[in-house]
Parts: sequence; structure tokens; C-alpha cells
Amino acid sequence: MDSYLVNEIFYSLQGEGVRSGTPNLFLRFSRCNLTCKAETHGFDCDTEFESGRRMTLDEILAEGRALSAACTWVVLTGGEPALQVDRELIDRFHAAGYRLAIETNGSIVLPEGIDWITVSPKVAEHAIRQRTAHEVKYVRGHGQAIPKTVVQAEHHLISPAFDGAEVEPRTLDWCIRLCKENPPWRLSVQQHKLWKVR
Ligand code: SF4
Repeated sequence: MDSYLVNEIFYSLQGEGVRSGTPNLFLRFSRCNLTCKAETHGFDCDTEFESGRRMTLDEILAEGRALSAACTWVVLTGGEPALQVDRELIDRFHAAGYRLAIETNGSIVLPEGIDWITVSPKVAEHAIRQRTAHEVKYVRGHGQAIPKTVVQAEHHLISPAFDGAEVEPRTLDWCIRLCKENPPWRLSVQQHKLWKVR
């Protein structure tokens, strides 16, 4: 691809999942192929992914280096990053010394070569196309059942739905109960929201 539609690039700590707490450059792509709503998904999408600017790989890499010369991990996120991530991008980042993680809704098969895959399904199980991952993570609101996932992953995560910057105590209690009753599912709270970082 000549250029990519990028919403933003920033440097922060990963707040979710098994890699929680690690420093990463976040490359957030514009656009998504879904529209998640409380009525259909148990939560409203709170991510702005409409705006963006066209950037070449050289420009993306230069901006990443300017944000941190030391960081060696990049999280590809969105929107839905699988709409744009291709082998050229993966190879260029690897050649520049980075390792790549991705957070995808699972509705599009990913190209080979990504170092850490998080599938967070937002479609029915039969519509999930990316069926292997390092971790699979489901957002759950109060009363929603434990998933029966088709994704093969080493780590199985339940993420309590947030209401803005807060998680309701009853939602958290519900998700804790789901994990206790259904190992190996485990809890993954969006800690970056509690830490008040990006
Ligand atoms: S898949 Fe993610 S980014 Fe896309 S609408 Fe759903 S929550 Fe928002």
C-alpha cells in the first residue's frame, strides 16, 4: 500500500490483556467494518475512528521513533486495523527492529507475521474469520453469558464493559463471577482507563 489512513500514533502502556503494563507505540488506524451498539453487542463503541490522515510507512516509522527511540513494540489498533495492515507494513516494521501486536475484531483474516494477536470478537462466532490468536478477549456487560468461542488461543480473557471512564461495580462483579465459574477464562480490566493514560 502506498499510504495508510492513520487516526493517531501515540506512546503509552498497554492497559489490557496478558501484555498489560508494557510500554508500546500505538498505531491507531482509521475506519472500522462494524458498528458496535449496546443493543446488539452489550456496549457502545467509544472509539473515534472516522478521522485520519494519509501517511506513508516512512512517515509512520519516523513519527514512532520521534515519540520513543527506546520502545520496540508497536500495537496495531483501530478502528479495525485488519482493513489496512499488510505484509509490506509488517516487513518494514520488523526490518526496523520492532515487534508487532494487533487488536482485531476477528472478522478479517490477518496477514502472516504478526508477533502477538489479540482477537476481540464483535461478530457472531460463525462470522469470525481469524480463528487463531495468542489471546481472545470478549467484552461482557452485566448478565451476558460466558462465550463459546471458535478462536483457538492460549489465553482467554473477559473484559468488563466500561461506561465512559468507569466500570459499574455490578458489571465487574458479574465478570469476576463468570471467570470463577469458567476457568480458564480470566479477568482483563481496561486498566489504562483507571490509570488515566491513553
Ligand atoms: S469493532 Fe471495535 S472499533 Fe469497530 S465499532 Fe466495534 S468496538 Fe468500535
